[in-house]
Amino acid sequence: MEYHPLTQAIRLQTERTNEMEHSTPMFLTSSFLFDNAEDMRAAFADETDDNIYSRFSNPTVQEFTDKMCVLEGAEAGHSTASGMSAVFASFMALLKAGDHLLACNSIFGSTHTIITKYLPKYGIEYSYVSADNPEEWEAAIRPNTKMLYIETPTNPGLDILDLEVIGKLTKKHNIILNVDNCFATPVNQRPIEFGADLVVHSATKWIDGQGRVLGGVVVGKKELIKEIFLFCRSSGPALSPFNAWVLSKSLETLDVRMERHAANALAIATKLQNHPKLASVKYPFLPSHPKMEIARKQMKNGGGLFCFELKGGLDSGRKFLDSLKLMSLTANLGDTRSIASHPASTTHAKLTEQERQAVGITPGLIRISVGLEYVDDILNDILQALEKC
Ligand SMILES: *Cc1c(COP(=O)(O)O)cnc(C)c1O
Repeated sequence: MEYHPLTQAIRLQTERTNEMEHSTPMFLTSSFLFDNAEDMRAAFADETDDNIYSRFSNPTVQEFTDKMCVLEGAEAGHSTASGMSAVFASFMALLKAGDHLLACNSIFGSTHTIITKYLPKYGIEYSYVSADNPEEWEAAIRPNTKMLYIETPTNPGLDILDLEVIGKLTKKHNIILNVDNCFATPVNQRPIEFGADLVVHSATKWIDGQGRVLGGVVVGKKELIKEIFLFCRSSGPALSPFNAWVLSKSLETLDVRMERHAANALAIATKLQNHPKLASVKYPFLPSHPKMEIARKQMKNGGGLFCFELKGGLDSGRKFLDSLKLMSLTANLGDTRSIASHPASTTHAKLTEQERQAVGITPGLIRISVGLEYVDDILNDILQALEKC
C-alpha cells in the first residue's frame, strides 16, 4: 500500500539495523566497506548501487532526499550542503557556454550574484524578466534559452507567480523550468504538479525550521537529476550525514509547523493592515494581495512570511529593528523564533538602487518570518516597535 506523502515524511526511513532502533539511525561515516575485491570493482563500475564514499552517496542523506522526492512528487533528487550549492549545481550541470538562462528578477540575493557574476565567466548568457509583467516573458525567450528560473512567493517582496501559466510556457518552448520552492515548502506548494522540471530548496530555512543546520536539495526529472548528481559527485558539495539526519527528522513535523507558522502570519498581517505607521502590508492570502487568487490556487496556505512598508522609509526601518524586544535580528528565516529583516540594508544591499527598485525593495520594507511563539506576543512586539517609528 502506498501511504500519503505526509505519512511517508514520518515513516519512510533507512532500513532498521540489528539494534532495532525506533528512530532513524545516523550513518556518520566517510566511506563504506566491501567484503571483497569483486564487490568493490562492481560498485566502482556502477554495476551495483552500493555506497562507496559519502561524497557520492550516504544512507542518511538518501533518506532525506527520498522524503523530499515523495513530498514534492518528484522522480529523483540529490541533496547538497546548502541551498546555494543546490542552485549552483542545477545551473552548472545543465547549462553550457552559449546557453541562455532566463530568470525572474526577484530572486534570492546569492542566486542573483551567481547568475550575474559567475555564469557569464563560463559563457552562459542571462536575462531577467519582471515578476510584475508575466505577459512579457514569452518575448524574452531566445532560441538558445535553456532554463527558466523562478521563485514564488518571491523574495523578499512576496509576489506570486502563476505556476500553471509558467509551466505551460516552458513546455511550449521546451525549456527546463527550475523553481526555488524554499518559501512555500512542499507541504504548501508542489511546483512539479504545475509543470516544473526541477525544484530546488534551501533546507536551511523552514525544512530545518529551528535554525540549526545548512542543507539543500534539488528534485525533479530523473535524467536532469542524474546530471546534477554526477556534477556534485565530482565537485563535492555533499550534505553532511549529521545535517541530513536533523533535516530528515524535521520533515516529520514540517506540515504541522507550517500550518501554525501560516496561521500566525495570517492573523498578524490581518491585524496590521490599517496601521497608521504602515503604507502597506503584504501576505499572499490577504485579499489586498494583487495575486491572492493565484496564491490560493497553487498554495495550501499563505506561508510563514509577510512584509510591510513603513511610511517613514529607511530611518523608520532601522528604528523598528532597534525597538524590537522579542524578535531576532538575524540572517535567516523559517525558524521557530520570529525574525525581522530589512532587505535594503542587508540581504539585497549588494544590488544597485535601480535593481532594488525593480524588485520592489523599498527603503522602508520590513520582512517578518513568523515563528511559533504565542501569536499575541509576536503581534505585541511589532506594535510596540511601530510606536517608536
Ligand atoms: C536561503 C535561501 C537560499 C540559499 O540557501 P542556503 O541554504 O543559505 O545556501 C536560496 N533561496 C532562497 C529563497 C533562500 O531563502
